[in-house]
Amino acid sequence: MTSPDETFTGHRGLQLEEPLIFEQDALGRCGVDLPQVDATQDRLGGVQRASPIGLPGLSEPQVVRHYLRLSQKNYAIDAGLYPLGSCTMKHNPRLNEKLARLPGFVSLHPLQPVATAQGALELIDTLAHWLKTLTGLPAVIMSPAAGAHGELTGLMTIRAALEARGDARRRVLVPESAHGTNPASAHACGYGVESIAANPRGRVDLKAFKASLSDDVAAIMITNPNTCGLFEDEILEIAEATHAVGGFFYCDGANFNAIVGRVRPGDLGIDCMHLNLHKTFSTPHGGGGPGGGPVVLSAPLAPFAPVPHVIHDGNGYRLVEQAGQSGDSPFGRIKAFHGQFGVFVRALSYMMSLGSDGLRQVSEDAVLNANYLLARLGDVLSAPFPGPCMHEVLFDDRFLRDTGVSTLDFAKAMIDEGFHPMTMYFPLVVHGALLMEPTETESKAALDEFIGTVRHLAAKARAGDTQHFMEAPQRTPRRRLDETRAARRPVLRWTPAVEQAAE
Ligand SMILES: *Cc1c(COP(=O)(O)O)cnc(C)c1O
Repeated sequence: MTSPDETFTGHRGLQLEEPLIFEQDALGRCGVDLPQVDATQDRLGGVQRASPIGLPGLSEPQVVRHYLRLSQKNYAIDAGLYPLGSCTMKHNPRLNEKLARLPGFVSLHPLQPVATAQGALELIDTLAHWLKTLTGLPAVIMSPAAGAHGELTGLMTIRAALEARGDARRRVLVPESAHGTNPASAHACGYGVESIAANPRGRVDLKAFKASLSDDVAAIMITNPNTCGLFEDEILEIAEATHAVGGFFYCDGANFNAIVGRVRPGDLGIDCMHLNLHKTFSTPHGGGGPGGGPVVLSAPLAPFAPVPHVIHDGNGYRLVEQAGQSGDSPFGRIKAFHGQFGVFVRALSYMMSLGSDGLRQVSEDAVLNANYLLARLGDVLSAPFPGPCMHEVLFDDRFLRDTGVSTLDFAKAMIDEGFHPMTMYFPLVVHGALLMEPTETESKAALDEFIGTVRHLAAKARAGDTQHFMEAPQRTPRRRLDETRAARRPVLRWTPAVEQAAE
């Protein structure tokens, strides 16, 4: 049975349904005209493909339309405000894109001789220099491909340093307010993970932390600012206590956006920290990458960094590529070649166009914008911890009590208003969390529109006008999905009525 808002074609206005590219396949169709080849020479010694390769046959306009339509279904930072908490989604300046497309950068081949790639190596070295300067730490691993990959690399470096001193420790402590990738990375690195409770101020409970600390703790992993959007103000004491038992202090630096230019993690006693170039330093991300997760290291960890290293030896840049060649790098490489070079170009372009005063203003504005949301929404939503906050602001679901509306319903109603929802149900330290990070690149006008929408929906829910929440989103190509089933048993095919009629 078709409901009144279903169409014959499956399209909704000018929002077109998009079949899979394989469903659009017409055998033998080809997007380019290739010349007929009379005879080919067998260079494979008779080895031949036994069956067709299975690539779809499509014309050029079909391909262009397919990918354009797919891109239009994807909400993006280029389309509007993207207030995710714990994942900085800010504008990516087009200047970075322009520089990343310079022919000397795009046409580089990772296997070309080092003598012909001196400029690229200088770029990596310069970016490394600024990352070390901004963090106040003496070494950096450039190759990790993203934040979680950086965490794994950092922990492997810590493990190598501990094993080199004959001290294979077993435990890693991770506070409740840490990002979810932290315990996952520690587990993947073979460590037992122990959770540390949060105190009523939304920070690490120092007493609980000290009670769990012993000389079999390899590392503590702290996210700072943490996922409640709060600065861990007892961080110096945490560092000191960790070092006193011979452990290392890992800091999840994905939220460096909040403190860049103002705080140097090296001054806080941090030994190891990944930086998300694709967050703090504005390179595009989403859909799985590419990202960049360089890891800065303290002096005791520096000798255990994986290869490659870019070195300048007076005659020019050269590479240390073999584990052991520099002394004691124990686990070779963590990623092919140098990591995500295109991301390095964008990140360096961002840094150099802003300068140190500009970077400082980035963190100030990011924190100001989050506190503006707190100030303008604090009376209608419920904030579990008193402000001020850092770069993101956390609300819980107490303001929805007795309305029948859940955090999920509220977020879905945001979609009908043309807003990407905030992060929901994370962090786990509060019930029904709504976590918002506006970032520094949103204007006051954009924030006011967002604030107006949230206030409108909160008032509607409190007034008992809740029918729409239960059915939201109503104005999207797809209505609310069973999210568990959609993740476990995705149905990617769509047969519109027009095709059923033809069958
Ligand atoms: C985004 C994020 C990560 C993970 O980074 P990816 O690049 O997505 O792997 C880890 N920790 C925090 C605090 C983050 O915000």
